[in-house]
Amino acid sequence: MQLQLLTYLDAVSKQENAQPAGVLYFNLNEPIESSSKNETAEEIEKKIRKEFKMAGLVLADVRVFRMMDKNLKQGYSEIIPVSVLKGDEIGKKSSVATKEQFQILQKYIIKTIKDISKDILSGKIEIKPYYKNKKVPCEYCKYKSICMFDKNKFGNEYNYVPKLPKEQVWENMEKEIKEEKGM
Ligand code: SF4
Repeated sequence: MQLQLLTYLDAVSKQENAQPAGVLYFNLNEPIESSSKNETAEEIEKKIRKEFKMAGLVLADVRVFRMMDKNLKQGYSEIIPVSVLKGDEIGKKSSVATKEQFQILQKYIIKTIKDISKDILSGKIEIKPYYKNKKVPCEYCKYKSICMFDKNKFGNEYNYVPKLPKEQVWENMEKEIKEEKGM
């Protein structure tokens, strides 16, 4: 899903010669919130809105934040994954990327799609779900009964994804792009 979104972002920005301001998504499931008798309708609505807060990456520019969230002055946005500190500094927990990082991301997506396509065409179709932060995608997967992945069976192995600092992830992506170009 994230790959589809990012591919779309890449296509649109090239077609329109535009610069990405962010790539955001949220869960379409209708949230069910528990509430106490004392809570006002406004408070309940606030809780529900919180469930719809978007995840993703936003361009590291406070002006862009405020174009996306008109009510954001300081503190955490209720809509996008960013916060603004005093003096309009970007909060440390904000999920942001610079213009250059978005360019890296766009190139890396294209590289990833090419790599996957080559693998499929060369017959590499092994079942290898990711394992990251003790999480696996199989838990809620609809295709479990078809793929029959079972870690306890011989030859079934996870693709272990290490938890790396963000800076390291950006560096690795940039390195791989350069390597592909033979730089
Ligand atoms: S159950 Fe199978 S298809 Fe689904 S995520 Fe796991 S390995 Fe992939």
